[in-house]
Amino acid sequence: MARGTSEGYVLNTFPQMSSSFLVLHRTTCGTVNRPLAKGREWTYPYGKACSDDHAELAEWAFRETGKSVHGCGTCGPPVEPVTGRGG
Ligand SMILES: [Zn+2]
Repeated sequence: MARGTSEGYVLNTFPQMSSSFLVLHRTTCGTVNRPLAKGREWTYPYGKACSDDHAELAEWAFRETGKSVHGCGTCGPPVEPVTGRGG
């Protein structure tokens, strides 16, 4: 499944904006050409979070902001709609 390289995901947020807009990118996306911290390290205060699990990012973002993430149109990461469990 993996081609040898562990592919991660980056979640861009805009905390300065009134409405939190969440965009999920792949770490290989050209729009997020920045050095990422090793392993899982949440950098939410900086408006960015990275993880190797896109679902985890989506759930985390949903819990933090109550909003669903949007997949980047450039790198097209797998984005699953996060809804409250239980139902
Ligand atoms: Zn992207």
